[in-house]
Amino acid sequence: MSSDGMRGFQIMKALEKVRVRFAPSPTGHLHIGGLRTALFNYLFAKKHSGDFVLRIEDTDRARFVDDAQDKIYEALHYYKLTPDEGPREGGNYGPYEQSKRLDHYQQAAHHLIDSGHAYRCFCPENRLELLRKTAEKRGEIPKYDRKCANLSLENAKAMADNGESFVIRFKLDKQNVQFQDEVFGTVNQCIDESDPVLLKSDGFPTYHLANVIDDRKMEISHVIRGMEWLSSTGKHQILYRAFNWTPPKFVHLSLIMRTATKKLSKRDKDAFVAYYSDQLGALPEAVLNLMIRNGSGIRDFDADHFYSLQEMKEQFDLSLLGRRNLLLDHDSLQKYSRMAFKSADFESLYPRIVDLLKKDGKFEIPEKEHIRRIVSFLNSKEENFGFLSSLTSGEFNWFFSRPRSAQLLLDSHQNVDLKQIIKELLKLETCNSETLGEVATRHQLTLAKTMGIVRISLIGSKKGPPISELVEFFGMEECRKRLEIMLTLL
Ligand SMILES: [Zn+2]
Repeated sequence: MSSDGMRGFQIMKALEKVRVRFAPSPTGHLHIGGLRTALFNYLFAKKHSGDFVLRIEDTDRARFVDDAQDKIYEALHYYKLTPDEGPREGGNYGPYEQSKRLDHYQQAAHHLIDSGHAYRCFCPENRLELLRKTAEKRGEIPKYDRKCANLSLENAKAMADNGESFVIRFKLDKQNVQFQDEVFGTVNQCIDESDPVLLKSDGFPTYHLANVIDDRKMEISHVIRGMEWLSSTGKHQILYRAFNWTPPKFVHLSLIMRTATKKLSKRDKDAFVAYYSDQLGALPEAVLNLMIRNGSGIRDFDADHFYSLQEMKEQFDLSLLGRRNLLLDHDSLQKYSRMAFKSADFESLYPRIVDLLKKDGKFEIPEKEHIRRIVSFLNSKEENFGFLSSLTSGEFNWFFSRPRSAQLLLDSHQNVDLKQIIKELLKLETCNSETLGEVATRHQLTLAKTMGIVRISLIGSKKGPPISELVEFFGMEECRKRLEIMLTLL
């Protein structure tokens, strides 16, 4: 092979390499749609031995939130979607935070001025405001009137050298654009927004410029992102053309909806990933299964199967991504949470449970062996258990706490000599339907009512596992301890 041929071959190889990016803005909590975008980027990269890049799009300084990048990393680690390159991983294409790449954007914008695709605009804010107001009065979409496009390059340069403040605008004639989307097929867009700003007067790029430059410089092969970006893609195509660059492949993901017709609201707590891990205690695999529940992108999808991340990787197929919106269905999440809990091994559950108890702060953290017994109890007796939050705030917090109040017992068993009954319960060698039946008879109560007294005394709730299971789990010694506490509370 000639050296030219060899270079051509190497370029081909480089272009073939799958490189995808997850590019969130650090503006607050990570949205559930962001998690799905990250997941599909990750699956596609891993399926094709490619690179999964994390890029932080932090050029909008007004919306910047300090710890948002930590939250993004927390989420990616929680869901095991670890980037190959990113602000903390490093890599050959860094820096990976846009605010540290300003020279790239400035260089590119000036290159577009030189090639006649862009120009400096010196219009003061009050002139632009006037243009906007006039357009609004006429019921038109505000557009820049291209006044500065008529400045000669020399004049504009002289003004800039003189220290006059300017933005760089892209010369964007009204036009139709056609492009291919891997999900939505051939897309036709009419672009009519005369002369968007590429570079602001403070030297920061706007979203569109930064996005295009970085995808190019980072050799991104496939742009997989939410379909809210589909409407910008036509403009991006024109930018690629102005640079004389071949655009990457575009893959826009359908929306995540509440119902078939209702969108998620920013006020919905389950619209953000932190809710699932921090408040609900849903296991990560459960949420990931929810993200693929309509089978989109998964070969031979089986709705009743619980997918490990490994299986998702193996069966991921970009060509099977559908246009159908994903419904954020709580019943499905519950189902997957049950399946996730059943399939989780103890060593992975243990730190999560300890973490939950620590965060909650109301409970003493028991020994590991005790937590192992709790997990095995839940696995064998509680088929609906799925959300870890019910261990601290829900129906299972009795695992970690003894009775704290007699109120429920007093309210639900009036005109009963509770003190006497508990004293008799404390004398029992064993606690079963036979021995409880004897106590019941002595006090002219039904067995069910007596068991109700025992249950509230043990776990502080009217509902819960059968007494036999509770006694087996606690052992008589712990049962007596709890009864004694209840006696002192009465
Ligand atoms: Zn101007």
